[in-house]
Amino acid sequence: MHIILFGPPGVGKGTQAKILSEKFHIPHISTGDRLRMEIKNETDLGLKAKVLMDAGNLVPDDVMIEMIKKVLISPDCKNGIILDGFPRTVAQAVALKKIFEDLSITPRKVLFIEVSVERIMERLVRRGAMEHRVDDSPETVVKRIAIYNNKTSPVKDYYAQQGLLSSINGEGTVEEVQQRMLTELGVQ
Ligand code: AMP
Repeated sequence: MHIILFGPPGVGKGTQAKILSEKFHIPHISTGDRLRMEIKNETDLGLKAKVLMDAGNLVPDDVMIEMIKKVLISPDCKNGIILDGFPRTVAQAVALKKIFEDLSITPRKVLFIEVSVERIMERLVRRGAMEHRVDDSPETVVKRIAIYNNKTSPVKDYYAQQGLLSSINGEGTVEEVQQRMLTELGVQ
């Protein structure tokens, strides 16, 4: 079961992805976590990505597409994945479609988590203080939301046109949101 979690930063994708991953015994692939690991290990990619990420910018498409291609061909991902943070641009979504086709994978659903902008701001700034994430400072959060609106939000229409998109109300408790997702996936 290949599921894509999609939505603005701070809607709870990571939290929900972890729960789905445990429930279905399939890996949770977070491109943000992978990039933070590259930064921690001080790899070339990590050093380049850090500058972009700290400023709230996106890492270039070709780098991200290469990263996700490597992940998807690994045997661990054969039975499914919960993809969190990718695709973030239409170019990434188009590339992902091709990768899936080459691997004869049919994605089950794209779950779009919707939360009000006020709530997103509140959550991200709180997370920034707790996790010391430079990219969750109030100024950077504003920029990340603007980038989301310009570059990532069109991905929603792309998936809607393909009939893959399900919108999930992301307000409420973690359990309530999880239940809505399971209902959309046809699992109780
Ligand atoms: P996240 O943890 O998903 O919020 O990602 C943190 C940061 O990593 C983003 O603000 C981007 O700078 C970078 N990033 C993660 N995934 C992608 C992606 N698919 N494309 C471009 N940049 C990404």
